[in-house]
Amino acid sequence: METKILKVASIFENPDELQQAADILAQGGLVAFPTETVYGLGANGLNEDAVRAIYRAKGRPSDNPLILHICDMEMLPQLAREVPSAAVRLALEFWPGPLTMVLPKTSQVPDAVSGGLDTVAIRFPGNLIARELIRRCGKPVAAPSANLSGSPSPTTAQHCIDDLMGRVDAIVDGGICGVGLESTVISLAGEVPTVLRPGGITVEQLRKVLGDVQVDPAVTHPMAEGQKAASPGMKYKHYAPKARVILVDGNQADFAGYVNERKADGVFALCFSEDIAALEVPAVCYGGEKRPGEQAHALFDALRRLDDQNAQLVFAHCPNQDGLGLAVYNRLLRAAAFDVVRL
Ligand code: AMP
Ligand code: MG
Repeated sequence: METKILKVASIFENPDELQQAADILAQGGLVAFPTETVYGLGANGLNEDAVRAIYRAKGRPSDNPLILHICDMEMLPQLAREVPSAAVRLALEFWPGPLTMVLPKTSQVPDAVSGGLDTVAIRFPGNLIARELIRRCGKPVAAPSANLSGSPSPTTAQHCIDDLMGRVDAIVDGGICGVGLESTVISLAGEVPTVLRPGGITVEQLRKVLGDVQVDPAVTHPMAEGQKAASPGMKYKHYAPKARVILVDGNQADFAGYVNERKADGVFALCFSEDIAALEVPAVCYGGEKRPGEQAHALFDALRRLDDQNAQLVFAHCPNQDGLGLAVYNRLLRAAAFDVVRL
């Protein structure tokens, strides 16, 4: 399949390219597009065949449900059977933005979107290109991250090109994603609001609005054999470069000592800018130690750069887990398949 690259600097400068992308979506095609979190691979979310094509293009397991993206609150009632008051409060505070809410679904939502669950994940993105694309398409847009399943999520159009060229109808190039990590997923379908995946909106921010918010244990711990996943995406190895990744938890001096002792061909460090000077192996930096926003923004590109450099074994310096750091830690844990060394 030929993949069109559509450059959209802004919704004002390239309305024709944006319209082409929207037409492809409306006709049942697949379009990768920028959001403030990561690039999404979109399809008309009410068209079962179009949605199934997303799973094929990504090689995504069919029981891992998709997020429906909307461009105004009027799209919500046709998708969610109930909108509890907690959801309304979160929407008022954080939408449009990097927050996904899991709500009881209506019968209009195809099973292919919800992975057969009785709930649906919904997000109102902040990125203007994404919103205008959905508006012109006229339908909620189902969109997982626009990467091949298992590889790091894309934060630039080039990442989408690397993974999906020839597999999708178009890629909208709208520059670099601001947040750099996927949205926070919170379930409001149970008794207590529960974070299923940490992301751009922090647990602390959610608690300020709702009070009691739980964090699903699968956010920071491997799931036991046979355990049912609250968020099916959590059970897969994820976000991983081709190299083996080991997460190393320790201070600057201990991290450098540990890595330098293991110096060999193909051994790399994924580290903070403060670590570089003391390291004797090639290093890829993912931000400052005390700057989780910078880490979130840089992480996925850094993981891809390790592949470009043919890294075989990567020692990643473990981030602090406060605020946005929890999301960074969650992605690194999965990139490392929970292989953590505590110094
Ligand atoms: P991605 O599309 O790559 O951002 O992944 C979407 C995430 O949302 C995955 O971790 C899914 O498991 C999760 N998700 C989507 N729909 C639901 C749902 N109905 N219930 C629980 N988790 C969901
Ligand atoms: Mg993904």
